[in-house]
Amino acid sequence: MLRDLSVNKLKFFKNRQVGESMIYDVVVIGGGPSGLMASIAAGESGANVLLIDKGNKLGRKLAISGGGRCNVTNRLPIDELIKHIPGNGRFLYSAFSVFNNEDIISYFEGLGIKLKEEDHGRMFPVSNKAQSVVDALISELHRLRVTIRTNTAVKRVTMRTTP
Ligand SMILES: Cc1cc2nc3c(=O)[nH]c(=O)nc-3n(C[C@H](O)[C@H](O)[C@H](O)COP(=O)(O)OP(=O)(O)OC[C@H]3O[C@@H](n4cnc5c(N)ncnc54)[C@H](O)[C@@H]3O)c2cc1C
Repeated sequence: MLRDLSVNKLKFFKNRQVGESMIYDVVVIGGGPSGLMASIAAGESGANVLLIDKGNKLGRKLAISGGGRCNVTNRLPIDELIKHIPGNGRFLYSAFSVFNNEDIISYFEGLGIKLKEEDHGRMFPVSNKAQSVVDALISELHRLRVTIRTNTAVKRVTMRTTP
């Protein structure tokens, strides 16, 4: 939990509003796929979320991923996937035990993104458009009333301990 975040001279304090400052339970820095999913997960658990990105739009890299088609995940069995991770991919077992490739497929299909399987288990949106994946995630942010602030670079994060 970020207790005190200074961003472009704005200050955010947990659970109260001070002057022009706003109240957020969770502040996510970076609107790539990690930040989009983190914001959605926090929003789904009922948190009041602020998502900040220094760029002018969210999911910029995601929108060009997979040659503009977004290779969302891979449907091979987990053991097979891990064999293809360079180095020691075994550390991924614990993450996959919580949320794995089949969960990703179900999640996106639940958002209305139909996926198709191509060679070697690679999964792409039927639309062949990575932007459709970005748009679905942004719609979720709106549905969950996540506050979005683009064109805002976080310069510093400070933590203050309160008695
Ligand atoms: C050409 C290309 C094709 C790819 N194809 C695929 C693919 O098909 N499938 C796949 O799974 N992966 C693919 N990848 C990899 C995938 O894009 C990355 O793994 C993914 O984008 C990483 O997500 P992320 O959220 O961690 O970081 P990023 O997508 O890099 O997002 C980080 C965000 O943080 C913001 N940010 C950074 N610093 C600050 C700051 N100080 N203040 C505010 N905001 C900040 C940035 O503006 C950015 O929007 C591809 C990558 C590239 C480059």
